[in-house]
Amino acid sequence: MVELVRKIKVKSVLNKQKHADEWFLSGYSLNPFSGCSFNCVYCYTRGSKYGENQVPGLAVKINAPEILVKQLKNRARKREYGFIAFGSATDPYLPVEKDLKITRELLMIILRFHFPVNILTRSPLILRDLDILEKIGKKAVLPPELENKMETGVVTSFSFSTTDENLSRIFEPGAPSPPERLKTMKECKKQGFLVGAIFMPLLPFLSDTEEHLEEMIKKVKENGADFILASGLTLFGEEPQDCKTRYYRVLEEHFPELVPKTRALFGNSFAPSRRYQQELHHRVFKLSKKYGIRNSVYKEGNVYGNWFEK
Ligand code: SF4
Repeated sequence: MVELVRKIKVKSVLNKQKHADEWFLSGYSLNPFSGCSFNCVYCYTRGSKYGENQVPGLAVKINAPEILVKQLKNRARKREYGFIAFGSATDPYLPVEKDLKITRELLMIILRFHFPVNILTRSPLILRDLDILEKIGKKAVLPPELENKMETGVVTSFSFSTTDENLSRIFEPGAPSPPERLKTMKECKKQGFLVGAIFMPLLPFLSDTEEHLEEMIKKVKENGADFILASGLTLFGEEPQDCKTRYYRVLEEHFPELVPKTRALFGNSFAPSRRYQQELHHRVFKLSKKYGIRNSVYKEGNVYGNWFEK
């Protein structure tokens, strides 16, 4: 099926993050598209402030390359290097990218200005661009605060809310299957890239259990993940297309018994209780330790600090 995509023009394409965080190293973020055809039921951009500037449907930022050249030239001149997070609000390797090649064009500009990148995707199409990513890795200038913490200027990260194909079909109907993502991770690792598995969001009572998590961690480890980052579900908005409304609609259809428990877990908040989140992180931390996989993009880091070391 041919995917319809509108063309829009933007004034800015590179967003400077207020705080470069230890989770995604995102000094900057960059999204070549507005909207995302992977259509995940839980997509946090629908109903939250992160989707505020998105136009309805799927659109490509057609002048992004031209704007990016101006913005990166300016940043490079001031030596304001920082990791560019690709895919914070849309997947950079949507099916339309196969013909449009706008992500590829943006990566070539990033290479020209020697910025490091962190690509977050669910798609095997990233394999097409490993040639450019390899060159970026060789040329990227790391910001001084990361020079001792990072061994490379390219991170390839793959997101999973589950590795179960049936669950994925329900909650991520348009995205490549978990086995396809695992295979792609393995290939990136084989080609020498730093590979991350991003378990976001873990679905309450479905993919957040000890058993399910252990299976996920085992699978990503077997397929080359160097690190795992994980966090729980967030639900925003009351409109029909907002993720909270859509999530409960899908739960009602497939797992009606989980609706009251999930509502109780969230109460009036967009996130589950603090206690739930601590227990979830503890499970991830313990299992990661068991399988010898770190919880940080840094070579010797741990996003949980020493929370659970005792
Ligand atoms: S891939 Fe990411 S941006 Fe796209 S719909 Fe899914 S959660 Fe949203």
